[in-house]
Amino acid sequence: MNTIKDIDISKKKVLIRVDFNVPLDSKQKITDDARIEAVLPTLKYALSRNACVILASHLGRPEGQIKMEFSLQPVARRLSNILGLEVMMAPDCIGEDVAILADGMKGGQVLMLENLRFHKEETQNDREFGKALAALCDVYINDAFAVSHRANASVVSITEHAPISAAGLLLKKELDYFKKAMETPVRPLVAIVGGAKISSKLSALKNMLQHVDKIMVGGAMANTFIKASGCDVGRSLIEEDLVDMAGDLIEKIRVRNIKFYMPVDVVAADRLEPEANLKNVPVQEIPKEWMAADIGPATSCLFSEVLQDAGTIIWNGPMGVFEMAPFSHGTFDLARVVSGSKATSIIGGGETGSAVQKAGAADQMSYISTGGGAFLTLMEGEQLVAVAALEKVASLGLS
Ligand code: ADP
Ligand code: MG
Repeated sequence: MNTIKDIDISKKKVLIRVDFNVPLDSKQKITDDARIEAVLPTLKYALSRNACVILASHLGRPEGQIKMEFSLQPVARRLSNILGLEVMMAPDCIGEDVAILADGMKGGQVLMLENLRFHKEETQNDREFGKALAALCDVYINDAFAVSHRANASVVSITEHAPISAAGLLLKKELDYFKKAMETPVRPLVAIVGGAKISSKLSALKNMLQHVDKIMVGGAMANTFIKASGCDVGRSLIEEDLVDMAGDLIEKIRVRNIKFYMPVDVVAADRLEPEANLKNVPVQEIPKEWMAADIGPATSCLFSEVLQDAGTIIWNGPMGVFEMAPFSHGTFDLARVVSGSKATSIIGGGETGSAVQKAGAADQMSYISTGGGAFLTLMEGEQLVAVAALEKVASLGLS
């Protein structure tokens, strides 16, 4: 797979697929521009080479309809402020008017296409739509790691039609970080897996067994493991149908000599609300009508000890309902321990990333992935479809 640096882009029309799916408030104001910041290295590189930069992204879920509350106009404005140059806004992402705008561009100019998902063909990976997008450019660059696990036209089908296709610097960095952590990590390699559902993390857990030295589980998904180990978890969030599976997994982990840690205590609450009654209890003593909402202080202490000698840490999934202050300590304490560790720390997952930000620990992490689903797909040991598409055209000599 080639990157943008391997090809001549000077004065060329370079269509860069980015992930500008930023959070907006009710007044269409961007509340966090981390996703814009993340692709600046690629954009600045392209501009430094005097390319005509055409940006394509989705925003929200307009579901194939033109809904102006999902317009990329506010993003164009913000990007213009950040770059200190004009960012032209196209009326659509394909079609004659857009082609005329693209054709009239000079090197060093930036054109933002309108939301790709105003066309239902984007998420259908429609050939004709991919072809229409490709027709706008001389060079196609994928720098949208966060959507690269999805077979969408702007990351898959487009590569079959663009004259040249390659990866952007963010996509490359994401893949390189992850690959190094999996294949040549400084050991011990520790995986921390948490979050809401064990079902969504099962494949990732199984694949991680081939790589890691230690696994720690927390969050609601740990409840299924706690139940499998013979403890009653009251009204905690749990996936009953996966209790046996969790038990089998614990056995597999033991056979492989991987060190496995699950919570020894939890913050139990009588309801999942900030005003709930709380108590710290050992996992053996979760009251029948209560639920586990966070890992307890003894577990925080244990997890901190486990991480003392870590060489590499991969963390996906919060330890509790961190969105509510009383249940945020487990996740925030862990964030501080991980960020303070000398280990290479790689954080992935939508909620995990925002928890680490909220804990004020983001700056000291080695790497925070911009992808939730894409990161999980890598943890599952699966290739990203959009990366496979880039590799395919590279093997055919089209990049
Ligand atoms: P990520 O987006 O980082 O991959 P997930 O989507 O798997 O993470 O899970 C995040 C959600 O899990 C959070 O919104 C959090 O509130 C929830 N969660 C964590 N622990 C618990 C728990 N004990 N009970 C209920 N929900 C939980
Ligand atoms: Mg999530």
